[in-house]
Amino acid sequence: MYGTVKDELAATLREIEDAGLYKNERELTSPQSAHVTTLKATALNFCANNYLGLANEPAVVDASKAALDEWGFGMASVRFICGTQTLHTSLESKLSEFLGTEATILYSSCFDANGGVFEVLFGADDAIVSDELNHASIIDGVRLSKAKRFRYKNADMADLRVQLEAAREAGAKRVVVVTDGVFSMDGSYAPLDEICDIAEEFGAMVFVDDSHAVGFVGDGGRGTPELFGVMDRVDILTGTLGKALGGASGGYVASHREVVDLLRQRSRPYLFSNSVAPAVTAGSMAALDLVEGSADKRETLKANTELFHRLMTEAGFELLPGTHPIRPVMFPGEDGARRAAQIAEHMLGNGVYVIAFSFPVVPRGKARIRVQLSAAHSEADVRACVDAFVAARDAVG
Ligand SMILES: *Cc1c(COP(=O)(O)O)cnc(C)c1O
Repeated sequence: MYGTVKDELAATLREIEDAGLYKNERELTSPQSAHVTTLKATALNFCANNYLGLANEPAVVDASKAALDEWGFGMASVRFICGTQTLHTSLESKLSEFLGTEATILYSSCFDANGGVFEVLFGADDAIVSDELNHASIIDGVRLSKAKRFRYKNADMADLRVQLEAAREAGAKRVVVVTDGVFSMDGSYAPLDEICDIAEEFGAMVFVDDSHAVGFVGDGGRGTPELFGVMDRVDILTGTLGKALGGASGGYVASHREVVDLLRQRSRPYLFSNSVAPAVTAGSMAALDLVEGSADKRETLKANTELFHRLMTEAGFELLPGTHPIRPVMFPGEDGARRAAQIAEHMLGNGVYVIAFSFPVVPRGKARIRVQLSAAHSEADVRACVDAFVAARDAVG
C-alpha cells in the first residue's frame, strides 16, 4: 500500500526542486554527435563524453549491425552459465593487449566494475587509501568492502603519504592507493608517476579508474598510465566503453592474471548480471581497432582542445589550466552559480549545448560550465562555441 509514502516522496521532490538541484532530461531526437537535435532545436553538443566522436562512427555502427546478424541480439545468461561468446573473450584479449595487462574482465559498466572489485580483493585486515574526488562508483565499491578506509586530499602527495602512514600504523596487510586517472569536474590528471613511487615506497598496490582517458590520453590512447610512463606499475586498471570507446556501454578491470581470475569467481556484479550484448561487444571492438589504427582522431581532439582554450582565454574567460578535453570555464564568487546557469541557458538558445555545475557537485564559489571537446567537432564548431560564450556574457552581464 502506497499510502502516505506518496506525499513524503512528493515533498522530497519539491525540496530537490526548491534547492535548484532537479535534473531535467533533455530528449535528443537524433544520434549522439557533435550536432544533435532536441525536441525544440538543433544544437552543437559540447557536453558529451564522445571524445573521439565514435558514438555514431560508421565503422562502429556497421560492425555492431553485422554482429546482430551473426551473433544475435541478447545472451540471456551471465558469463559463467552460457553467456560467453567468442566475441567476449576476443574483446577481453584485445583490451589486455591494448592496455598492456595480463588479463581483462568485462562488466556491464564501469560502475559495476568498480562496484565489484574492492570487496573481492580487500578485506578487514586491509586498507584502501582513496583520493577525495574519486568517482561515485569507486566510493560505493569501497563501501562494500570491509577494509579500513583512508582518504587523501585531491592529488595531494603529502597527504597521500600521511594516509599511507596511518594505514601502516593501523596494521593493514594489503594496501591499495585508489584514484581516478582524470578528475571529471576539473579535467585534471592524477600524478600517476608520483603516486606509483610513493605506493612502492609503502609496498602498496595502485588502482586507477581511467574512464575519462582510455582511447585518447597518451600517445597511443592507452590512457593516463601511458601519459605518465607507468603502464607496467599500475596494478588494477578500470575503465568504461561508454565514453571515448564508442560510448555504448560496458566496463572492464584490466590487471594481473590472478586478480582477473579471482574476480571471475567472486565479483558479484560480474557473476549475477547479464553478459554485455553481442552488438555492443562487436561495436566496442571496432572502436578499439580505430583507436589502435590511427592517431588522427586524437590529434584532432588535441587541436580542438588547444584552440578552445586559447580563444576563450583571449576572450577574457577564466579556464582551469590543463590539456584534457574537459575544459571548465569558471564563474567564481557569490553569484557565480546563477551566472553560469544563465549563460548556459542563453547559449542553448543560440544552439550551443553546455552544462553548468554548481554546489554541491563542485565546491561552493567554484561554479563552472564544463565544456567537453570532441574529435567530431570542426574548427568552425569550436569557434561557434566561443562566440556563443561571448554573446551570452554580453547578454547576461
Ligand atoms: C563515467 C565513469 C564511470 C562509469 O562508467 P559507466 O561505464 O558509464 O558505468 C566510472 N568511473 C569514472 C571515473 C567515470 O568517469
